[in-house]
Amino acid sequence: MKLGIVGWRGMVGQVLMERMSAEGDFDFFETSFFSTSNAGGSHPFKHLKNANPVLQDAYNTKELALMDVIVTCQGGDYTKAVFKNLRDLGFKGYWIDAASAIRMEENSTIILDPVNMSVIKSALLAGKKDFIGGNCTVSLMLMALGGLFTQGHIEWMTSQTYQAASGGGARHMNELLQQMKYITDRVLGAEANLSDKILSVEKNVTTLMGHNDFPKENFGQSLACNLIPWIDSDLGNGQSREEWKASAEGNKILGTKSIIPIDGTCVRVSSMRCHAQALTIKLKSAIPLDEIEGLLAAHNPWVMVVPNNKTESIKYLTPEFASGKLTVPVGRLRKLEMGDHYLNAFTVGDQLLWGAAEPLRRMLKILIDFKS
Ligand code: NAP
Repeated sequence: MKLGIVGWRGMVGQVLMERMSAEGDFDFFETSFFSTSNAGGSHPFKHLKNANPVLQDAYNTKELALMDVIVTCQGGDYTKAVFKNLRDLGFKGYWIDAASAIRMEENSTIILDPVNMSVIKSALLAGKKDFIGGNCTVSLMLMALGGLFTQGHIEWMTSQTYQAASGGGARHMNELLQQMKYITDRVLGAEANLSDKILSVEKNVTTLMGHNDFPKENFGQSLACNLIPWIDSDLGNGQSREEWKASAEGNKILGTKSIIPIDGTCVRVSSMRCHAQALTIKLKSAIPLDEIEGLLAAHNPWVMVVPNNKTESIKYLTPEFASGKLTVPVGRLRKLEMGDHYLNAFTVGDQLLWGAAEPLRRMLKILIDFKS
């Protein structure tokens, strides 16, 4: 199959390239790399078997139409600019996309195969060609709680998220570091210990965030020593678009016949990578905790149920632990004071892996199997 890859240079793209190389996926394809900024240039994957050495123009729909499969991690603006024109031109190949632009279209299937392989298979058999990665936080939540969702145990759920700077892309990560440097350069000085005047230091830190030259072009606000309780656009009804995605995408991925309401508050925090979320789950029945742990652990090989004690929670339920791993830890599992039907959970996962690159990579393998 002829595979075209767009967006290989971005953050999600780089993780996808690493994973495809590690798994030997390129052996199955003749691969062309596309660029929006350097068509005709070269790329770092010339060593790959069956790779076109010259970068193709990512806006050239005639070149793109020669592919059997296109994978894009370029972003929503690119999808909006190219996808429809390409289909209008008669492109009959598969389109696999990390962006949200066409995720909720009727012809699109959201891919997260450990959770919805049956939905993906039905879509392939129905001749569908558009397979889109889910929102990172939603995908990670379903990887962690698949055992409860797929067994139909959840009546509703709220999620309060703690999303890393990298969710906004490479420039946001850089800006967070610049913000940290701006602050520490001005308050730490030569003194190693500021404990005796820490309240005046804190006042200084807060004042620094308001300075005209404080770097906040990307976040529009300080994330360092701060948090931002709004992610993505304002839907005008009090809900952010990121919050809306939980129920809309979660139910689409699961293919639920009656909607399971999922809602909460999405918050940007100053971790570099990995999204975490605190979940309150209303169970349909008062299943015992050990049964719940068993269901979660059995759902997929990547979920890791963390015993609810302080030592293991602070070791495993952190971005530090989850970063760069396919493992999705879930813990803080306990019944809440509200009653036996109310479950508390906390989960964290690498949003660039299961939240972005990994479902796309696995979709390529699913296509290979489907075609053979
Ligand atoms: P990104 O890092 O901003 O990369 C996107 C594109 O920007 C690259 O392919 C590259 O295109 C161009 N670019 C310009 N300057 C660059 C530079 N200095 N370094 C690298 N690339 C540069 O975007 P992303 O975070 O990977 O996100 C891509 C898509 O995945 C988006 O739709 C996003 O919503 C989605 N997604 C992201 C995450 C996440 O956690 N970041 C998670 C899930 C889904 P050219 O090579 O063509 O110039």
